[in-house]
Amino acid sequence: MNILILPGDYIGPEILAEAVKVLEAFKAQGETIAWTLGHLGGAAVDAEGHPYPPSTQQAARVADAILLGAVGGPKYDTLPRELRPERGLLGIRKDLNLFANLRPARVFEELADSSSLKKEFIAGLDVLIIRELTGDIYFGQPRGRRVNAEGHDEGFDTMHYSRPEVERIARVAFEAARKRSQRVCSVDKENVLDTSRFWREVMIGVHQDYPDVELTHMYVDNAAMQLVKRPKQFDVMVTGNIFGDILSDEASMLAGSIGMLPSASLDANNKGMYEPIHGSAPDIAGQNKANPLATILSVAMMFKYSFDRTDLSDRIEAAVKKVLQQGHRTGDIAMPGEKVIGTREMGDAVLAALK
Ligand code: NAD
Repeated sequence: MNILILPGDYIGPEILAEAVKVLEAFKAQGETIAWTLGHLGGAAVDAEGHPYPPSTQQAARVADAILLGAVGGPKYDTLPRELRPERGLLGIRKDLNLFANLRPARVFEELADSSSLKKEFIAGLDVLIIRELTGDIYFGQPRGRRVNAEGHDEGFDTMHYSRPEVERIARVAFEAARKRSQRVCSVDKENVLDTSRFWREVMIGVHQDYPDVELTHMYVDNAAMQLVKRPKQFDVMVTGNIFGDILSDEASMLAGSIGMLPSASLDANNKGMYEPIHGSAPDIAGQNKANPLATILSVAMMFKYSFDRTDLSDRIEAAVKKVLQQGHRTGDIAMPGEKVIGTREMGDAVLAALK
């Protein structure tokens, strides 16, 4: 199990250090795990002059899986666009063809009170949002600035999806649903966008191969509303890049804190990049305040999806559940009056629970 670790910027190295403790524990127990460190994002610009430098490209291509902290932050906000940390993130996703982003939004019973929704609406919530990650308006060409026919400056982007792009993400969704409660909701904006009309048509076509799975469709504006109104109606939601970006952040809030939510980005062979869904949290960086649990749960996803080691992922998830039951809380998941511990202490608590 060869892992490339890319800590990234601001809290990235802090949360990754706690995830490495878990790897070290498994290694000490005889698992054949090896890892190397590399640069991505702002840290890569600082060290090697590019957000996705050739050394990282090479290491990423040979690794079996990649663990990422988070990239970006104010230090890099004024860089030219091609050097911005996000270009590194988009670059590695595209380079490795990581087209399927899996974001489970699950509510740990112990944290149901920290959601902004009433407990009865979210207790037991378990939604899997599958977002297409390498196409759509984020990558569409042409894009840029121009002067329009009326002589005004304008900015523009292009939304498009090809049949193979939609077909492969549809299959990921139907396959995932087969391992859950056999329901897929495809989210689009078919009433307005030609791209969405095509998306829906292809979804319906691929669905022919999965008669055992129920397929429904929902407009993205309604999906945004339903996620806060009746979130437990959903099992697997599948959608394009831009809609998925927004909906998965919304779903994350149902679960209490973005500090709890892992994600996986997979290629066609389940090679994957695993990362917490949150960003680099510059406001709390260097203060031992960040919640490392989303990153540790990303390690669990890595063992499950890339290494087919559900025994190890189950152990990590059980350890996280145990520390929550024991009442350990970082600031983001603590209720008023609850004792708050730091990033390192939370990592140590998980380690103790693992052992
Ligand atoms: P953010 O997710 O970094 O932070 C939003 C809020 O959540 C902040 O108040 C932060 O303190 C808190 N938070 C985030 N992670 C936390 C954790 N583990 N524990 C406790 N609290 C946590 O989003 P932002 O502030 O909009 O973005 C900051 C930077 O991160 C930007 O440069 C942005 O581009 C970048 N970003 C990177 C990624 C990524 O690397 N995948 C994703 C989103 C944003």
